[in-house]
Amino acid sequence: MSQHATNATLLNQAADYAYDYLTTVDERPVFPMRDALADLAKFDEPIPDAPCDPAAVLRRLHKHGSPATVAQGGGRYFGFVNGGVLPVALAARWLADAWDQNAGLFVMSPIASKLEQVCERWLVDLLGLPAGTVAGFVSGTSTATMCGMAAGRNALLARQGWDVAEQGLFGAPPIKVVTSEAAHGTVWKGLGVLGIGRSQTLRIPADAQGRLDPAFLPNLDANTLVVLQAGNVNSGAFDPFGEVCERARAAGAWVHVDGAFGLWAAACSETRHLTSGIARADSWSVDGHKTLNTPYDSGVVLCADRHALAGAMTADGAYIQFSDQRDGMRFTPEMSRRARGVEMWALLKSLGRSGVDSLIARLCANARLFADELRGHDFRVLNDVVFNQVVIACENESETERTLTQIQRDGVCWVGGSRWQNEGVIRVSVCSWRTTEEDVRRSARAFADARETVRGV
Ligand SMILES: *Cc1c(COP(=O)(O)O)cnc(C)c1O
Repeated sequence: MSQHATNATLLNQAADYAYDYLTTVDERPVFPMRDALADLAKFDEPIPDAPCDPAAVLRRLHKHGSPATVAQGGGRYFGFVNGGVLPVALAARWLADAWDQNAGLFVMSPIASKLEQVCERWLVDLLGLPAGTVAGFVSGTSTATMCGMAAGRNALLARQGWDVAEQGLFGAPPIKVVTSEAAHGTVWKGLGVLGIGRSQTLRIPADAQGRLDPAFLPNLDANTLVVLQAGNVNSGAFDPFGEVCERARAAGAWVHVDGAFGLWAAACSETRHLTSGIARADSWSVDGHKTLNTPYDSGVVLCADRHALAGAMTADGAYIQFSDQRDGMRFTPEMSRRARGVEMWALLKSLGRSGVDSLIARLCANARLFADELRGHDFRVLNDVVFNQVVIACENESETERTLTQIQRDGVCWVGGSRWQNEGVIRVSVCSWRTTEEDVRRSARAFADARETVRGV
């Protein structure tokens, strides 16, 4: 069999399955049913002794794999903050995967290098960041935040004459880290990885919406790393960037903004005010795979000081061939890396400024509709719905918990739980382009039905 024939047959087979999947995803239970989960046991086998037909491998994947997926590609998945995938981004990814490029260096992929360069410029423009801001294309915001904080840590210490890459952290002058008590778990994780423990980090109280309360900020100085948040993971609230960034800048402190899903507010005329002052921070992290609806594995670290990020990510080797073009690995922890910029480029090129604006506006409008519908069904909405997140509670905590379990069991939509102001809650994230108003109404009715089941009505 020629290599060409194998490729054509297998890619067409995969395309057929993908098409079959995407055209039925809206009718699937949003979380797999018991039979599909039980069938996962079919994957439990010893490593095969001999090769088998690749077509049979794909067939197995579709037969027992597709039914055991979470139907995130449909319109009624509201769990975590997981976006959908816009068709143009998915299709571009297929092509990019066929290219199989290594985006580490220009000499390994001129096209990946070019598209990263273009995306960097477009992102800086769309998000209103300072000219010259550099972007590193990483796997997600967990990594992006770590990179931004590493750049900040190193820059602060460099000003004190300490070279972290060279001298390490043992014996380094202390730096002060300040963040909100409502900071995302990945901030704490990143700080740990960076050698700055939780006990060395000052947690500032947050207000009733989950915004850092600047009244509790200590004196900032040139040894301080401040980590702010655009989009609280429960409420969607935004920290007061203007005030904090101004104080930080005056003091010579470094500000990193975790904007995993919320930084996109800056690309939408209706929500831009939420990010006012954000351009005065030093570094930012944002995901493509949430609000923007690119496929997974798409995070970006942005840093106003190109040299600070490149310095923190320095790697070298006799065989590495840097160029006078963009070499992506200068700005990421990884060396080998898939060409993530491809689908980001395709999406931004396809939507344009106004398309991104209306995508975000529609997610927010659907979140407000969700809140209104649920209020209409006598649920309590506990947050100001400023972006795409809604925090919901029933009459009491036990009813909330049992209703959540019942919603998940019913399979009409999927939402997760969380804790909010010391109360167990249901958390709704409207994050997919596929969600329609009808999806929202139907899901809100599923909430009411689940509560009736729980109440035994
Ligand atoms: C999702 C999220 C993260 C983590 O991003 P990943 O892309 O999952 O690594 C960090 N911060 C916030 C606010 C998030 O919503």
